[in-house]
Amino acid sequence: MTVFEARGLRKEYGRRRGALTALAGVDLRLESGRIYGLVGSNGAGKTTLLRLIAGLSFPTAGSMALFGAEDEKGLREARLRLGTLIADAAGYEDLSLWQNLRVQEVLLPTAQRQDLQALCDLVGLDRRGCRRTLRQCSTGQKQRYGLASALMGSPEFLLLDEPMNGLDPSGVAEMRELILRLNRERGVTILISSHLLAELHKIATDYIFLRFGSVLETVSAADLDRRMEERGMKDAEAYFLELERAARAREGSLLGLREE
Ligand code: ATP
Repeated sequence: MTVFEARGLRKEYGRRRGALTALAGVDLRLESGRIYGLVGSNGAGKTTLLRLIAGLSFPTAGSMALFGAEDEKGLREARLRLGTLIADAAGYEDLSLWQNLRVQEVLLPTAQRQDLQALCDLVGLDRRGCRRTLRQCSTGQKQRYGLASALMGSPEFLLLDEPMNGLDPSGVAEMRELILRLNRERGVTILISSHLLAELHKIATDYIFLRFGSVLETVSAADLDRRMEERGMKDAEAYFLELERAARAREGSLLGLREE
């Protein structure tokens, strides 16, 4: 089943003349049950794409379908099946994590309410951590809380923007295991942006490489491994750097420049 589809998705920030093109016409199709690694240099448009899918920002042109819904009302309903961890986890700074999660829970439709304790256990938030206010939390606890918020309502599709950011090595490993479990045990489709390519390489089933707001390449993990092997590359980072280098060379030749 196709979970998400974008056709010519475009996002410009600012007014016409000085507009900055963050997404330059993205065509993309995401299938259910997969883990997509969204990769690109700073400013490539990763967060912008995630924000458009989540409805936190609106496209300048193009169209998208989420769970088959395309019109505004349909998209609003489809987004109830979406969980998002984009930028800092939102909440009341002076409430404890537990209280914040309770606030979010009561806003959910009754059918989607869930066992908060089980949710905290799932993301690795212990009782002491849950008693801390959002203001007092460490970065790692905030990420875990953000993930708990994202999982509220048992979403079928998760958008994670740099979820490993600020986590210590054991936190990164736990996050990785959790993402894999959500995918394997609950069939959650995941779109995850990260600069940690070695980490992504341990979990992604597919990759989307973005550059200057365009999809440079989409490739399955199996094809990526094959290509890396053919080229004698040890890690996914080397593949990505090579892809970027080739794109730069193409752009340079279009502009009549020669690569050093
Ligand atoms: P990073 O890896 O640094 O997080 P990214 O791939 O997530 O980058 P985006 O945050 O989507 O990239 O940004 C894409 C482009 O859009 C950048 O040039 C950025 O400066 C610009 N941009 C993003 N948000 C806004 C905004 N609200 N107003 C103006 N420009 C913006």
